[in-house]
Amino acid sequence: MKCGSCGEISEKWQYIRQMDSVALKGGRGSASMVQKCKLCARENSIG
Ligand SMILES: [Zn+2]
Repeated sequence: MKCGSCGEISEKWQYIRQMDSVALKGGRGSASMVQKCKLCARENSIG
């Protein structure tokens, strides 16, 4: 998984949330999973 903001590649990011629906910052809809980059704190949606 690569961060879409700073390009950090890590298999162990700060956390992974898995929910039926997660509201994304910026109003871009929802995703089933969200990884948060530990470097820049960007939330990268998966699925
Ligand atoms: Zn990042």
